[in-house]
Amino acid sequence: NSKKIISVLLVVALVMSMFALTSCKKEEDVLTVYTNAEFPPFEYLSDNKPVGVDMQIAQAIADELGMKLEIKNVKFDTILTSISSGKGDLGIAGITVTPERAESVNFSENYITSTQYMVIKNDSEIKTIEDLAGLKIGVQLGTTGDFIISDEISGTEDEETGEHIKGVLEGTGATVTQYNSAADAAVNMDSGKVDVVVIDMLPAEIVAGQYDNFKAIELVYADGSKTDESYAVAVKKGNKELLDTVNKVINRLIEEGKIDKWVVEHTTQSSKG
Ligand code: GLN
Repeated sequence: NSKKIISVLLVVALVMSMFALTSCKKEEDVLTVYTNAEFPPFEYLSDNKPVGVDMQIAQAIADELGMKLEIKNVKFDTILTSISSGKGDLGIAGITVTPERAESVNFSENYITSTQYMVIKNDSEIKTIEDLAGLKIGVQLGTTGDFIISDEISGTEDEETGEHIKGVLEGTGATVTQYNSAADAAVNMDSGKVDVVVIDMLPAEIVAGQYDNFKAIELVYADGSKTDESYAVAVKKGNKELLDTVNKVINRLIEEGKIDKWVVEHTTQSSKG
């Protein structure tokens, strides 16, 4: 009878609308961002949730795409492989653009510049990287600070001639210890396991501020030269559409002064306590 047919049709319609609803939540509508939430003010945990300048950038990109943001908090040195393998959509973690990294991922436009810093004791006489001769140096594993210190201790090879280029710390007895975060490295500096920590400027200043007897100074060479870095968002190679959207959002945020504003806000926030 017709009543039965109508009720069957109603049930069918109901089931179909439920499918439609659940398919709205299908995976393509989630933007997966990989980070390492141990790098304030760019990313740090607040109530166990990753927050910070980069997380606000991530949210702005997700909003632009009309997608739900999912953040994966992982070790820094695994982020780029997760992006190049397609496991995650974006890597946003204060990632410095380097030619080597640009071989495995595409980088967006730069959104901030930085330099390396040295966290030292207040009464330390250290002024230049050459002053780290013979010292125990703590770094964060797989970061540019790690690369610079490791290269200065081991020396490098001239790409064309293969000739050995002596590092400024080579043969001085200086050693490098790699930690998973600047905070970890600082704890080990406090207990005397390392003498100094080398890490990016703002994280260095924040971590130094957490110890009464630590300060942070810029890493300079005796000849006055400095490191010079820019952060960008990592996107899987070939994903031009996503890269274009990321660039559009970054340019807008820079123009609106949002990034500078967030840096100030999150520096204050993450320095508390
Ligand atoms: N900017 C540094 C790098 O890319 C450190 C980044 C970080 O520790 N999150 O290596």
